[in-house]
Amino acid sequence: MPRADGLDVLVSEVGPRDGLQSVASLMPLEHKMAWIDAEALAGVREIEVGSFVPAHILPSMADTGDLVRHAKAIPGLTVAALVPNLKGAQAAVEAGAHKITLPVSVSETHSLRNVRRTHAQMIEEAQAIAALLATLPPGRRPSFEGGLSTAFGCTLEGLVADATLTRLAEALMQAGCDEVGLSDTSGYASPSEVKRLVRLVRGVVGEEALSGLHLHNTRGLGLANALAGLEVGITTLDASLGGLGGCPFAPGASGNIVTEDLVFMLQAMGLKTGIDLERLVEVRRRLPGWLPGEASYGFLADAGPPLGFSGEAAVAAR
Ligand code: ZN
Repeated sequence: MPRADGLDVLVSEVGPRDGLQSVASLMPLEHKMAWIDAEALAGVREIEVGSFVPAHILPSMADTGDLVRHAKAIPGLTVAALVPNLKGAQAAVEAGAHKITLPVSVSETHSLRNVRRTHAQMIEEAQAIAALLATLPPGRRPSFEGGLSTAFGCTLEGLVADATLTRLAEALMQAGCDEVGLSDTSGYASPSEVKRLVRLVRGVVGEEALSGLHLHNTRGLGLANALAGLEVGITTLDASLGGLGGCPFAPGASGNIVTEDLVFMLQAMGLKTGIDLERLVEVRRRLPGWLPGEASYGFLADAGPPLGFSGEAAVAAR
């Protein structure tokens, strides 16, 4: 389905949330703001700025409300936030987030470990959030995504059953989500599995209800999996600048797929992202200054674009 915003692919930056919640260092609020401002200026249209979790659980996310309020002032930017429960959703609504994502682990073991809730309890949470959103005037109502985490497998359970995935996807849509997304939380996906599971879930919820993938590069298959997603019509891809986040289980592996490498691949394929790659790489170079001591990953920032590559300008001219 073509996107309403005129882009071929929406690259959604999740570094301020997924990246920062996975590293030991705390990034000061002013640096987070500078990062978000700079990426938006480079043309990134959606940024997940944080997670509405209690500060004692994730101190790095304590300023998410401030960040949402700040980022909302940036014209044309969709401000997204993760919400683990109804309380988080209430805080996100109060701050004025444009999009909220409730992560629901397909692995029930992971769900219990992560948010101490069963699948049934998470569906109830989704229903409660949908009921809250229904009380808001349309202009203040954020879009509501059910994020199916560990959709491709889980470090605690191994493979997860197809039937569990489709049952949860269907239940989330029935609960009132606007869409569902598939997350490869543990870096278990392969290109063939991406295609198979996207088709499988769409067979249950419909094509328009699944447009996004959240991929990790834990085992080096991140961009291959992104390409597989594009081939089955995925139009939103999450990524993290400099692959920030890493993975404690796989030293040397980046966390999410690397934003600048993804944008390079998309533009090299002639796809419109709305992003100025050169400016994006400049933002990436500032990242170590905002978060000293944390590793950055990826290839494009070191190698630079190929001679004669001029990003989307060249695409537009062809
Ligand atoms: Zn993730």
